[in-house]
Amino acid sequence: MSEYLEHELSTRFTLLKLWTHSSKPKFFKQNSNLIKAVVGDTSCGADAEMIESLPRLEIVASYSVGLDKIDLEKCRAKGIRVTNTPDVLTDDVADLAIGLIMAVLRRVSASDGFVRSGKWKDGDFRLATKFSGKSVGIVGLGRIGSAIAKRAEAFRCPISYHSRSQKRHTDYKYYSNIIDLATNCQILIVACALTQETHHIVNHKVIDALGPNGILINIGRGAHVDEPELVSALLEGRLAGAGLDVYENEPKVPEQLLGLDNVVLLPHVGSNTKETSKAMADLMIKNFEAYFGNKPLLTPVL
Ligand code: NAP
Repeated sequence: MSEYLEHELSTRFTLLKLWTHSSKPKFFKQNSNLIKAVVGDTSCGADAEMIESLPRLEIVASYSVGLDKIDLEKCRAKGIRVTNTPDVLTDDVADLAIGLIMAVLRRVSASDGFVRSGKWKDGDFRLATKFSGKSVGIVGLGRIGSAIAKRAEAFRCPISYHSRSQKRHTDYKYYSNIIDLATNCQILIVACALTQETHHIVNHKVIDALGPNGILINIGRGAHVDEPELVSALLEGRLAGAGLDVYENEPKVPEQLLGLDNVVLLPHVGSNTKETSKAMADLMIKNFEAYFGNKPLLTPVL
């Protein structure tokens, strides 16, 4: 829980802190008739069990744009409102996607380690790979995907994408099939929503289509990528590198990745800047104030 959000919530509402209780069932038993609103984030939302435990629940607010930790069907069936924090985090996540590309291709972490370890005096660092002009394929041309595309255009990268539908507002090349996208780009960036359909959307076939010179960047959710397949491809040289902000079982990261210097590993920090975490908290608070003031939600999902 962000300290700022915790403070802002506690000054306006009665805040019950599930994360300070060791027994979830006991917490729900004690408080189920009090709780009208739930605040979730990327690691904990409102699943079916929680929703069933809270008979007075009216609204779920996610401190994230991703909705994969919320049982949307259950919320819809019970008339529970849902909000998230879109747009305010788009720039940060897109910036970091470009940062990951740069870090992997130009080996930023490895060359930083080279200087720190004192090896420079023994010779130059090995050559890296150019970013400008590389073809970029984006899985999910939504808010974040589009912001990444705009940034990559500034690096003169040809852009193509795969989404459920072709976008009318752009000339980027559209592939209705992710394998065709992966075959035709050098850097594949995952920026789509995590749903049942996009679980493991990057699988063995997609990784092989991207090929031994390809780079995978994941700033969506860990479960978009079949992680054991990714690890095997990297170990076997079937993929040139990867930049990952998210993992299938956070905070666990596959052990084999830790030893690879063609991989850059971030601890799910896509939107974690001081500016954006405040903007996300303010948006969530405004949604709650609107809801409990009988006004329209600012960013309704349901
Ligand atoms: P968005 O505007 O709703 O975009 C989501 C995109 O996912 C859309 O382009 C959508 O395609 C695509 N998509 C959905 N289902 C698909 C499918 N079955 N196959 C292919 N594409 C599919 O959301 P956003 O604001 O850009 O955020 C995108 C995701 O980024 C979030 O859901 C979240 O998981 C992730 N995220 C990560 C971080 C981080 O810290 N790493 C931070 C923020 C967000 P259509 O347009 O065709 O429907």
